[in-house]
Amino acid sequence: MIVIDAQYCKGCGICIHFCPKHVLEVSETRNARGYYIPGVIDENACSQCGQCELYCPDFAIFVVEEEECGKR
Ligand code: SF4
Ligand code: SF4
Repeated sequence: MIVIDAQYCKGCGICIHFCPKHVLEVSETRNARGYYIPGVIDENACSQCGQCELYCPDFAIFVVEEEECGKR
């Protein structure tokens, strides 16, 4: 699954741009700094390729294995 750490996101949209499966889009949710964070629109389409995590300059988005979810 995709986990977004909203406090670190600056709403640059790089993750949205590089996602080959169009899983992400700009949401209407703003973080504490006023940036519009990405929203996950189609989790099932995610191939867990890691491009979003790789390109995010602020380490604000992660691909998490389902079995790891309870550990975070
Ligand atoms: S892991 Fe890949 S397919 Fe999934 S949201 Fe990130 S870029 Fe898109
Ligand atoms: S690339 Fe990172 S900082 Fe930019 S919108 Fe995506 S999660 Fe936020």
